[in-house]
Amino acid sequence: MLAHQDDFDVRWCKGTIAEEIFAPWKREIEKVGGEVFGGRRVARVELATGESNKRRSRVVATTRDGDVVEEETHEADVVVMATGVGAARGIIASSPDLRDAAGLRGFLADPDPDSDDPDSSGIASTSVIAVRLFLDVAVTLPCKSNVWGGFTLGASRGSKNGGVEGVTDTVGTEDVAGTFFDLCALHDEYRDLKKASSDASDDVRSVIEVDMYNAGSVIDLDDETLVEMALRDILTACVRDVAPEIQDAVVVDSSVLRFKDGVTKFAPGSAVALPRTTPAGLERAMFYVAGDHVWQGPGSHGARGLSQEKALVSGMAAADAAAAAFGRIAGEESRRATSTTTTRAPARILDVEPDEPHVAAAKDALRAADALEAFLPRPPPGFPPLF
Ligand SMILES: Cc1cc2nc3c(=O)[nH]c(=O)nc-3n(C[C@H](O)[C@H](O)[C@H](O)COP(=O)(O)OP(=O)(O)OC[C@H]3O[C@@H](n4cnc5c(N)ncnc54)[C@H](O)[C@@H]3O)c2cc1C
Repeated sequence: MLAHQDDFDVRWCKGTIAEEIFAPWKREIEKVGGEVFGGRRVARVELATGESNKRRSRVVATTRDGDVVEEETHEADVVVMATGVGAARGIIASSPDLRDAAGLRGFLADPDPDSDDPDSSGIASTSVIAVRLFLDVAVTLPCKSNVWGGFTLGASRGSKNGGVEGVTDTVGTEDVAGTFFDLCALHDEYRDLKKASSDASDDVRSVIEVDMYNAGSVIDLDDETLVEMALRDILTACVRDVAPEIQDAVVVDSSVLRFKDGVTKFAPGSAVALPRTTPAGLERAMFYVAGDHVWQGPGSHGARGLSQEKALVSGMAAADAAAAAFGRIAGEESRRATSTTTTRAPARILDVEPDEPHVAAAKDALRAADALEAFLPRPPPGFPPLF
C-alpha cells in the first residue's frame, strides 16, 4: 500500500480464483494426462536424496472417511510444497528429510522479534477472520480498499468491553486491525448490485468484506457476533460520516471465514527465515516451495507479502525451477535432459510498477545504513544497536 498509493500493492483477479486460475489449470493438467487428487492432506515428505535413499521422492497423504483416517503414498520426481505456513510447519516437523534443511529452519524456529540471530528467526503466523456482508442498502464507499484499526470490538453490544463473552477490554482497541473492501467496485460479479432491480427477491445492494488481522483473541466468537462487530463496530464507525446510509443497513446474508494461525505474519526479523523457491540445503532434492511466504527482497519479483499475486508468481517460479532441473526450459542445461526432452520458454511473469520515489529512497537509505553497520565493530553485549 505504501509503495503504490494509487492502486494498492496487488492486482485483483476479476472473478474467483477457483474459476479463473484453478479450473483452467486443472483442465491443462488433465489434458496432458495428469490427475488432480482432492480431499487429501499431506502428512510428510520423504525425499529421494534423504534417509529413505529411494529412486523417487514420496509424498504421504491422509484421507478421512468419517472417523477412519487412511494413509496413501504417492511417488514423485518433483515436490512443490504450496500449503501455506501453518500446514507447512506441520509437514516439515513430521518429515526428517525436511526438518534438517537450513532453508526450512525458519518454519520450526520460535519467532523472536527481539533477536538478530538469523538462526533464531522464525516465520510467524497470525489468525485472520474474513467477514463478507451482503447488505440491503446501496452503500457508496469513497475508496474501494480501506484500512482500519483502533476500535473497541463488541462496543455495539453494550458494556465497556462490548458485553461479548471472551472479549477482554484490550482486545478490540489494541490488537485487532484490518482492511475492508467494496466488492461491488472490485468484483465483476457484484458490479450491478447497486442498481435497483425489478426482481423483488433480489434484495442485496452492497457487498463489503471486512477482514480482521491479528484476530486470535476473537476468532472463537460465533458468526453472529463477528458479523455484528464487522458491521457496527468497524464499518459503521469508519464510514458513517461519508456514507450515512450504512446506519440503516441490514445484513441480508453473510459469510465468516476463519484462518486460525494460518496466515503469514511479516514481522521485523522474519525476512531471513523465509524459504527460497529452492530451499538452502535441498538444492539437489527437486523440492520447491511456493506461496505467499517465499523469500522476497532485492532481485525477487516485486509482488510482496500477503497476496494472491505473490502466491501465483511464486508458483510459476517453482514450476520453472522444476522444469529447468529436467532440462525442459529452453536454453537451461540439465543432466536429466535427453535427446527427446521437449522444452518450453520460462513462464512470462509481468513485473510490478517501480516503487514510488519516497519508498525507493527509504529502501536505499536503509540498505546503505545496513552496509555501513556491517563495517563497524560490533558493540559490546547490552549496547543498543546503532540503526
Ligand atoms: C481474510 C484474507 C483476506 C485476503 N485478502 C486478499 C486480497 O484481497 N488480495 C490478495 O491478493 N490476497 C489476499 N489475501 C492473501 C491471500 O489469500 C494469500 O496470500 C494467498 O491465498 C496465499 O496463497 P497460497 O497458495 O500461498 O496459500 P493458500 O491460499 O493458503 O493455499 C494453501 C492450500 O494448501 C492446502 N493445504 C493446507 N494444508 C494442506 C496439506 N497438509 N496437504 C495438502 N494441502 C494442504 C489448503 O487447503 C489450501 O488450499 C487474503 C488472505 C486472507 C486470509
